[in-house]
Amino acid sequence: EKEIQEQLAKEIVFVDGETREKLSKDYYWYSPVLNRQLQHMKAADVVAIPRNETEVAEVLAFGYRHNIPVTVRGAGTGNYGQAVPLQGGIVLDLSLMDEILEIGPGFARLQCGVRLGVIDKKAREVGQEIRIYPSTYVKATVGGFVSGGSGGIGSITHGNLWDGNVLEAVIYTMEESPQRLVIQGRDLFDYIHNYGTTGILTEVTIPLSPRTEWAQAIANFDTFEQSMRFGEALAREEAILKRLIAPMEWPIPSYFVPFAKVIKSGMAAVMLEIAEETLPLVEALAQSYGGHIGHLIEAKNYRKTIGVSDFTWNHTTLWAMKTDPSMTYLQAGFKLDSYLEQIRKIKDKYGEEVYLHFEWVRSGGEISPNSLPIVRFESEERLYEIIQYCESIGVKIFDPHTWVLDHGGRGEVGSMERKKRENDPRGLLNPGKIIYEM
Ligand code: FAD
Repeated sequence: EKEIQEQLAKEIVFVDGETREKLSKDYYWYSPVLNRQLQHMKAADVVAIPRNETEVAEVLAFGYRHNIPVTVRGAGTGNYGQAVPLQGGIVLDLSLMDEILEIGPGFARLQCGVRLGVIDKKAREVGQEIRIYPSTYVKATVGGFVSGGSGGIGSITHGNLWDGNVLEAVIYTMEESPQRLVIQGRDLFDYIHNYGTTGILTEVTIPLSPRTEWAQAIANFDTFEQSMRFGEALAREEAILKRLIAPMEWPIPSYFVPFAKVIKSGMAAVMLEIAEETLPLVEALAQSYGGHIGHLIEAKNYRKTIGVSDFTWNHTTLWAMKTDPSMTYLQAGFKLDSYLEQIRKIKDKYGEEVYLHFEWVRSGGEISPNSLPIVRFESEERLYEIIQYCESIGVKIFDPHTWVLDHGGRGEVGSMERKKRENDPRGLLNPGKIIYEM
């Protein structure tokens, strides 16, 4: 402690218990499994909050010299304990590096700590917007999203992080003299969703799209199946610009307390964000599947109050947990050609133990029924039994109840392991999050 305080600028080093505790946690408590494993974990020994790249490099060099682990964090909104320093050491909080460096035609160059909501607001002021963002965009940083997230609102049109949604990244390595690397193209896959294990991202360039006037709406259907069929048809409809198509099985909509007045009891709800001028087309499409739009937030009120998208992605789990703290969730990829069959099987077997909502996405160019099922938690054994059953009927599960990258099942861990050995020869970056041979 003493040495780090002597060697680094005083203003960036924090050793008080409250700061260390607070910045050694993330939102892992959405998982009862991770909560059990992590809630009593010892906090980091020191928190460093650098203001620029030079200070980042100084912290990394210090850690390397003294063999101290460094766990980086943005806003700490990740769900898998990704930002928890399992072996103590230094937490490197990059939230003060929050400058928008440049917004040009079709791109934004950003320091890693800028919040996604801030970027989108600025981009929209000059006729552009970000393409994909998590439902936590108000808090989450762009560096944390690239390093710990996957996709979100916008992914129905633009895919996930691996689909060209990162153009360039500046990476620092964990060596005696940390190198500053500028990464582009396919090489970015070693850093996307890396949990800060293969390098520290200080700057990132993301693509922007032309600004669209988005309306938010809720379409209601008698059955979940109708809502899913409508979702698929809308996902396929290229003439309609959209950011979000999220069908929700009843009773999930009943958890959306702030929307209590507009939720239709007993009905499936599809949460939508679509270009405002396409509303008549969307209403016609909904009608052709037996539904119709019951609630609308016009584009002129976009993001002025709580919106439709604030109940989707993992925010759905949040609202479910507020109603019933025994709820948790899974992450699941259903099959495009048989998702209705897969849904039926899961509902037949688990009934009220598993409730389904989907966020339609486009990934590698193909539309895909992506789901974050809500699960009433009974025990870890039961949870893994449900996971096994889903996999046995061809539903791919990306386990959100583990902090180990290799087990969560996103990204390309194989080539990350090589990069890890190169960039972090002492294995000090967020140890425990990636399993590899040194
Ligand atoms: P953090 O949690 O601080 O960090 C995430 C990971 O990246 C950690 O492992 C950390 O070590 C690493 N990291 C952070 N900054 C850097 C850096 N500069 N360089 C290298 N590594 C770094 N995620 C989605 O993808 N889509 C969603 O729709 C979504 N919805 C969510 C809803 C709720 C209610 C909650 C609680 C979470 C949700 N998440 C979602 C997860 C999370 O909010 C996002 O992935 C978010 O973008 C993480 O950003 P952050 O700044 O909070 O990152």
